[in-house]
Amino acid sequence: MFESLSKKLQSAFQVFSRDKELTEDNLQKAMREVRVALLDADVNFSIANALVAAIKEKAIGEKVVKSVSASQQFIKIVHDELVKLMGSEEKPLRLKASPSVILLCGLQGSGKTTHAAKLAYYLKEKENKKVLLAACDRQRPAAIQQLQTLGKSIDTPVFNVENESSALKVAKAAYTEAKKSNFDVLIVDTAGRLELDDTLMEELISLQKSLDNPSEVLFVANAALGQKAASIAKAFNDAVSITGTILTMLDGNARAGSALSILKASGMPIRFEGIGEKPEDLQLFNPTSMADRILGMGDTINLVKKAEEHFNEEESEQMRRKLRRAEFTYEDYISQMNKIKKMGSIKSLLKMMPGMSALGDIDIPEDQLKKTEAIIYSMSKKERQNRCELIVSRRKRIANGSGNSMEEVNRLVKGFKRMKDMMKKLPKNKLSEKMLGEKQWH
Ligand code: GDP
Repeated sequence: MFESLSKKLQSAFQVFSRDKELTEDNLQKAMREVRVALLDADVNFSIANALVAAIKEKAIGEKVVKSVSASQQFIKIVHDELVKLMGSEEKPLRLKASPSVILLCGLQGSGKTTHAAKLAYYLKEKENKKVLLAACDRQRPAAIQQLQTLGKSIDTPVFNVENESSALKVAKAAYTEAKKSNFDVLIVDTAGRLELDDTLMEELISLQKSLDNPSEVLFVANAALGQKAASIAKAFNDAVSITGTILTMLDGNARAGSALSILKASGMPIRFEGIGEKPEDLQLFNPTSMADRILGMGDTINLVKKAEEHFNEEESEQMRRKLRRAEFTYEDYISQMNKIKKMGSIKSLLKMMPGMSALGDIDIPEDQLKKTEAIIYSMSKKERQNRCELIVSRRKRIANGSGNSMEEVNRLVKGFKRMKDMMKKLPKNKLSEKMLGEKQWH
């Protein structure tokens, strides 16, 4: 995500080289490159100019801080301005009545049906809400079935009226059902078109009216759209006054221009971001996390959130201590791997750690973990606790015992060593500080 923008911004920051101070000259050069990077990421011209002007104003007034280099100061200013531009804080849903209605709108293929289910799952799991989904995309024949399948997978009911072509009738009946059966939230999936059109907007307007003033009207937008998203957001906003946006496909070819354009065109916050196809791939849009990712600083905010969900506090502290002291044993390795696996793919997690995105396209296939587990369990306790070198004869025994080849055992030993070396190289405390969100501005 945003790789090319991150790279260009990082190269802009190199303008400062080892400069100690922000000067007229180095600022001018850096600002020029930042502006080009933003325009290349399809950030709208006027937004890019306003951002650059705000950064410049801050930078000029910046006092010289002896312990911090010019580049560090500048990056912090860019970061702060990006955060401000994206709304500063998380803006969660505002659910008013019971049932609270969430009406989704957006173009076809933007991810409405998928995100109706993701949102239901989020509200159910994180906010303990009783959710009903309404299948009101009556245009795309597969949409109803898609929603029903998704609903089943997350154990959430989907309201449908067989052979009914009117979205309005289905929505009204769903609302009555949600009220009668005491649902907390009704999420209404709606039809989209490939392009904006009047019939689509009229249907949406009448849906909004019939649903007793929905708590939220969420515009679902593909993050790959770039600044084209502005006119689409504006059209939906003019028709149904959107209350927020769900930015989807951030795991794909996302362009920073989308987020910034939508925010400007609608004046409403981005509430969520979709980061994959699965129901759990939805998270609150956090401006600081987004600025971190744009600047290639990983995503510690969501990494810590994920860790908190899967590790209790005591375990987390233990893990931090071990990471800090590079005291991982093979035993820890396997137990952490199993827990971490529940948080997502190793590749996606590594990418969230500062400085790790540069690792590129490494991946650890699922069955690799099973093999690793078998190999580690074939070690003696002493070996697992890593107090002795695994000499060739021991490796041979472990390979035979676990039903794996010598090559696989060697690979594990090598990978494990590499991991420990890498951890040793990390300055003390830095990783844990970063995991806790304390930033290093370089
Ligand atoms: P709709 O026409 O607006 O209802 O769009 P869909 O919900 O059917 O989504 C279109 C396609 O995009 C489907 O194949 C989804 O699985 C996929 N999709 C939706 N959201 C995401 C996302 O955040 N990331 C990725 N990679 N795919 C997504």
